[in-house]
Amino acid sequence: MAAVASSDPVVAQIKRFVDREVIPVARDLELADEYPEQLVQQMKEMGLFGAIIPPEYGGAGLSFSTYAAVIEELTRGWMSLSGVINSHLIMAYAVLTFGTEEQRRQWLPAMAAGEKRGGICLTESHAGSDLQAIRTTAQRDGDNYVVNGQKFYITNGLHGNTFALLARTDPAATPRHRGMSLFVAEKGPGFSVGQKFKKLGYRGVDTVELLFEDYHVPMENLIGRTEGQGFKQVMSGLEVGRINVAARGVGLARAAFEAAIKYAQQRNTFGKPIAQHQAIQLKLADMGTRLEAARLLVRQAAEKKDAGERVDLEAGMAKLFATETAQHICLEAMRIHGGVAYMQDLPVERFYRDAPLLLIGEGTNEIQSLVIARQLLERYPV
Ligand SMILES: Cc1cc2nc3c(=O)[nH]c(=O)nc-3n(C[C@H](O)[C@H](O)[C@H](O)COP(=O)(O)OP(=O)(O)OC[C@H]3O[C@@H](n4cnc5c(N)ncnc54)[C@H](O)[C@@H]3O)c2cc1C
Repeated sequence: MAAVASSDPVVAQIKRFVDREVIPVARDLELADEYPEQLVQQMKEMGLFGAIIPPEYGGAGLSFSTYAAVIEELTRGWMSLSGVINSHLIMAYAVLTFGTEEQRRQWLPAMAAGEKRGGICLTESHAGSDLQAIRTTAQRDGDNYVVNGQKFYITNGLHGNTFALLARTDPAATPRHRGMSLFVAEKGPGFSVGQKFKKLGYRGVDTVELLFEDYHVPMENLIGRTEGQGFKQVMSGLEVGRINVAARGVGLARAAFEAAIKYAQQRNTFGKPIAQHQAIQLKLADMGTRLEAARLLVRQAAEKKDAGERVDLEAGMAKLFATETAQHICLEAMRIHGGVAYMQDLPVERFYRDAPLLLIGEGTNEIQSLVIARQLLERYPV
C-alpha cells in the first residue's frame, strides 16, 4: 500500500532513519523506559524540531501533508519519538500564528534548532477535557506575571526547557476562557519537575508533573502580548496536534498490519499458512481497508490545512477514525499472532500498549465526537 508522499526525499530520509536506527533499538529502550537521547539528537540534526517552522525562522518549512507522512514513518518505528516533537511543535505553532514578530524572531530559531524545546502545559490533576476549569494563575506584578499552580501529564516535561503554559490571568472572567492566557515559560526559579509518571505504553518519552511556585515569567512572554487569548490559541494549536495524533494512528496501525500480514504467511496451522484460512483473510482485508481509509482522512485534513482552510472538522474526523483504527488493528494483529503476540519478544505487544493513548491525547475521542457533531450541525442547518 502506498505510504503518503513516499517519494518525498524528507519522508524517504525518515524511513531510512526508522529502519536503520529506530527499529533495532526501540524494543529495549521502551521496555527499560529509557529516554532515547541518541535518537533525539539525530532527530534534532535532521531538523525535525523545526519541521513545520518556516525557513525564515530557521525551520524546515514542511507542509502539513509531508509532516503527517513523517509522523507516520516515525510512529511505524516507535510512537514515543513522535511525542518528542508533537507538543514542541504545537508550542512553536502557537508562537508562529499568534506571537508578535519580535516573539517569533526571539523563539522560533532556537525552537527549530531544538535548543529551546519542550511542549504544552494545559492539563491539571482535576482538569483535562474541561480545560476552562484549570486553576493555575498568572498574576501581573510590574513587568512580570507571577505563576502559581500545578500541571499534570506533561510530555517532554523533564527533558524540555521551554513550554507553552496556559494560566488564568483573570480568574473572575466570564465566560471563563476570556480570562485565560498562554505564555512561553522557560525553566528557572519557581518552575520545577514533580513526579514522573509510570505508563502503560508510550515509554521512553517523559510524562511528568510540573510545579509553579511564585514563578516569574516576563510580560514579554505572553503570546501575542494580549491577555485573554490563551484558550483560543490552544484550540488552534491542537489542530496541529490532531493531525500529528491522527498520523500516529496511521503509523501504528501500519506497523501492526505489516507485522500481521507477514506473520500470517509464515505461520502454518492445519497444513497451510494461516493466511490461507478465510477467517484470517477477512481480518486482513478489514485491517488493510481501514488503514487506507484512515490515511486518506489524515491526508485530506493535512492538505486542507496546507491550503490555509479551517480544518477543525477534518482534523477531528481524521483523529477519531485513525486512532480508533489503530486500536482495532493492534488488537487484530495480536489475534493473528496468537500466543506469541503476548510476549515481549515481538513489537506487537508494544503496539497494543501504545494504541490507547491515541484515544485520549489531543482531546479524548468522546470530546472529539462532540466537536465533530457540533461542526456537522453547523454545516447542515435546517
Ligand atoms: C501519556 C499522556 C501524555 C499527556 N501529555 C500531555 C501534555 O503534554 N500536555 C497536557 O497538557 N496534557 C497532556 N496529557 C493529558 C491529556 O490531554 C488528558 O489526559 C486528556 O485531555 C483527557 O483529560 P483527563 O485525563 O482529565 O480526562 P477527563 O477529562 O477527566 O475525562 C474522563 C472521561 O470522561 C469523558 N468526558 C469528559 N467530558 C465529557 C463530555 N463533556 N462528554 C462526554 N464525555 C466526556 C472523557 O472522554 C473521558 O472518557 C497527557 C495524557 C497522557 C495520558
